[in-house]
Amino acid sequence: MSWDPAIIVDASEALAEEPDRTSSTVDRARVESAVRELLIAIGDDPAREGVIETPRRVAEAYSDLFAGTAIDPVSVLEPLPDERGTGLILVRDIQMYSVCEHHLLPFFGSAAVGYVPGADGRITGISKLARVVEVLARRPQVQERLVRQVADAMETALAPAGVAVIVEAEHLCMTMRGVRKPGTSVVTTEFRGLFGEDAAARAELLSLI
Ligand code: ZN
Repeated sequence: MSWDPAIIVDASEALAEEPDRTSSTVDRARVESAVRELLIAIGDDPAREGVIETPRRVAEAYSDLFAGTAIDPVSVLEPLPDERGTGLILVRDIQMYSVCEHHLLPFFGSAAVGYVPGADGRITGISKLARVVEVLARRPQVQERLVRQVADAMETALAPAGVAVIVEAEHLCMTMRGVRKPGTSVVTTEFRGLFGEDAAARAELLSLI
């Protein structure tokens, strides 16, 4: 199988847009009071000078880290009205930062999203592939579900002939504690349509990543 024409983009060239943080539904006041409690619970003093602003800072950081919770991932994959495609479109090296929902600790690494348009040729902007990863990463997440949700959004928005999502990430809940193996990475994949059915198509795609 060969891709003709194929569009392959490294994410640094894809001009990933800034997420829309105005739509964050994080209740900052509630985060602040919870963090104050947390500081007490771990034996610290929330009135201590070094941490007095910490509840406010954490609330601000969380409203950013979890801004994707309120955004429908399908809405960011709007099809381009006047463009149609036939070949593989692949964006690789998408930087990905997320928070594991089991420990509320970061996991981070890179993602690749590729698809072959369906019968109607629907395509979306290249930067949108990086954006949909970001929207789905900015919520309490597990890496296995992240790849499925990206593929689900792609299928709903574009009805592609095939979609592939690959994420490789380091989880701080594994490397800072637990098994304590720095540098250990976890790879999750989701292959749909022709990438699920056709081993040669899948192998060719993987050779491009
Ligand atoms: Zn974890």
